Amino acid sequence: MDECNGVMVTKTQEPDVTPDAIRHRIRVLEDLRSYEDQPGVHTKRTCFACGAAQARGERCSACLSHELQHLRRKLARALVNKKVIYLAGPYRADTAWQVHQNIQRAERVAARMLTNGLVPLCPHKNTAYMDGVVSDDTIIDGCLALVTRCDALFLMEGWQESEGALKEKEHAEKHGLPVFQHAHEVDQWLHNGAAVAAA
Ligand SMILES: [Zn+2]
Repeated sequence: MDECNGVMVTKTQEPDVTPDAIRHRIRVLEDLRSYEDQPGVHTKRTCFACGAAQARGERCSACLSHELQHLRRKLARALVNKKVIYLAGPYRADTAWQVHQNIQRAERVAARMLTNGLVPLCPHKNTAYMDGVVSDDTIIDGCLALVTRCDALFLMEGWQESEGALKEKEHAEKHGLPVFQHAHEVDQWLHNGAAVAAA
């Protein structure tokens, strides 16, 4: 398959966690937050996460709330039990014809992901032919927001030359998403449900 001509880019990924494990973590953080939220004089401890000098424990209430929000989204995903994979690759080109080719190429990859039991998030189809509706920067910011709602990211052929794909890859890695370049590694990840064996 021509989209699979490289190597897996990153080995880091969050371990698969069960809904029960996520629920347990939510309860722990809720307890910590209610401790932080108790009225009274806060100590001058510094929050590990944001540096605010207002925490009683290791993290301030705001940082705990932020992680709780993340965990609730994660729990919702775990309960649905479908993996969503973001398809990153070139969209923009010098001519409308080339843009069309890029969209069609992405569509073929999306179809293959669908037949493999994944839910592809294909930004090429989402904003196809909307060039000029908003600025390119706004489109890319929107794409990064979509990346963080996915379980993994797949790099399609030509990603190295795509400014958007490079940013999406960086964003995915920053948020601990597994990043793949080979279809067989995606299959392995999907069916094992665990980390792909490190090379
Ligand atoms: Zn904080």
